[in-house]
Amino acid sequence: MTTLFISDLHMEESRPDIIGAFLRFLEEEAPGAEQLFILGDFFEAWIGDDERTPLQDQAAAALRTLSDSGTRIFLMHGNRDFLLGEDFCARAGATLLDDPTLIDLYGTPTLLMHGDSLCTADVEYQKFRAKMRNPQMQKMILSRPLEDRQQMARQLREMSMASNQGKTEDIMDVTPEEVERVMEAHDVPLLIHGHTHRPAEHFLEVNGKSAKRIVLGDWDTHLWWLVAQSEQEPELKKMPLPNS
Ligand code: MN
Repeated sequence: MTTLFISDLHMEESRPDIIGAFLRFLEEEAPGAEQLFILGDFFEAWIGDDERTPLQDQAAAALRTLSDSGTRIFLMHGNRDFLLGEDFCARAGATLLDDPTLIDLYGTPTLLMHGDSLCTADVEYQKFRAKMRNPQMQKMILSRPLEDRQQMARQLREMSMASNQGKTEDIMDVTPEEVERVMEAHDVPLLIHGHTHRPAEHFLEVNGKSAKRIVLGDWDTHLWWLVAQSEQEPELKKMPLPNS
């Protein structure tokens, strides 16, 4: 039995190499896995399930094939695709997860997050996040015509790129105290998240016990995934992204 974790693929039309790598990943690495967790920023942008681009339909169909073969698929929102909804999940045969979600990973209580909520030093972003995660705000956005939403997404992206340029490295990373606080509150020895694009394993102490934080990598120059099996330490794997 195997469980796979990926995040931060940031799929978009302008990166057919990433889409190709994902489709190959589903064909070569995922079959036979018990579960696949996608921990956010699966897509570079998401303005509503009604957009239905060819890329979105292709991704849904590929996930559906895997899900039909018996692998359970779980999706968590990232900061870029937080509007992804039940309609897409139904087409993909996937279940939408809350952030955070606590799972039992072969006997290890494990907390899953996207990771953006851990970056508490970025006060400006946390305010924006709180506003955007408000269900009423989302309802209002989704009620706008598709074209308005497309334009809004472009503006948000430019604003985010401009404001991130002025931020230091540690503001963009998780706040260690927040990691500890969240892990202690859930009393977990393992946290798995993405978002920061800093794939690594960090060792720490949680409620006086040794614990681990595994950061998934973003799919840019490499594809990254985490493999968990019973009786084994989860293993972070990477492969150069082939040119397509
Ligand atoms: Mn993110």
